[in-house]
Amino acid sequence: MQFTDATSLDTDLIVFSAGIRPQDAIVKNNPECGIKLGGRGGILIDEQFRTTADNIYAIGECAVWGNKVFDLVALGYSMASICAAQIAGDTEQTFTGADMSNKLKLMGVEVGSIGDAQGKTEGSLSYLYQNPKEGVYKKLVTTDDNKNLLGAVLVGDTEDYNNLLQLYLNDIDLPAHPESLILPNVEKPVMGIENLPDIATICSCYNVSKGDICAAVEGGAYSIADVKAYTSAATGCGAVGLCANGQGYLKLPINHAWIRSKSRLM
Ligand SMILES: Cc1cc2nc3c(=O)[nH]c(=O)nc-3n(C[C@H](O)[C@H](O)[C@H](O)COP(=O)(O)OP(=O)(O)OC[C@H]3O[C@@H](n4cnc5c(N)ncnc54)[C@H](O)[C@@H]3O)c2cc1C
Repeated sequence: MQFTDATSLDTDLIVFSAGIRPQDAIVKNNPECGIKLGGRGGILIDEQFRTTADNIYAIGECAVWGNKVFDLVALGYSMASICAAQIAGDTEQTFTGADMSNKLKLMGVEVGSIGDAQGKTEGSLSYLYQNPKEGVYKKLVTTDDNKNLLGAVLVGDTEDYNNLLQLYLNDIDLPAHPESLILPNVEKPVMGIENLPDIATICSCYNVSKGDICAAVEGGAYSIADVKAYTSAATGCGAVGLCANGQGYLKLPINHAWIRSKSRLM
């Protein structure tokens, strides 16, 4: 491995590790402000987003809560909403952490991670599928009674991500053989929009649930444009009909046919 200072290192393996570094220079450069930083940077906040200085709050990627930085757009929005409620005097709402499930392409490889991906929950069971020839690795983590999904890891093939995420987020009972959810060439139960509970999140950017969309349709939103205007669903990440930060939690969850089937036009 050749470094830019002309030195080199013999190596068999190179591991890339990328992460978030909070932009906290404004505090670092002004220590007299009385705001404390976390050990690895980032503005320390409590569950009400208060910094260590009076009347100064911090949210988003510059903040550290419970030794963690929350690095997704949707989390920033939910932090903003709770923080605004706090400032307006509603001290009931507090931040208790957030779901960090995510799907992305890492150096050309599809990867996805849901919930307790490492199976750290006591008594949890892990199911693995590996196909080294095709570079596919899948893992499911379930409760000890096999009933609910606690987490998942998908590498090389993230086709199952949307289904698994809905099962996880909505605590939906798993099929008798949960491993069927990650095995190839097996008929899998598909979480269509009709099977989701009303509380299921369809657009995580704006925290729009299936119930919100149904209510909009029942209230007269008869086109995708109307649904977007009424609920803001799919307007954050710009993906039409594919919400949740462009990750597509569900394929076309609010397509025309579904809206028609829900609306009084039928
Ligand atoms: C390449 C990349 C891809 C990403 N993809 C996704 C994705 O697919 N889905 C997802 O959910 N998230 C994604 N993220 C993360 C997402 O962008 C961040 O979580 C989100 O933007 C954080 O919002 P924020 O408002 O806290 O910070 P930012 O969006 O970084 O905004 C902070 C702003 O403050 C300004 N600022 C900083 N210091 C000062 C100062 N002293 N004075 C004035 N202004 C200042 C900065 O210039 C910036 O404009 C991605 C991030 C990157 C880098």
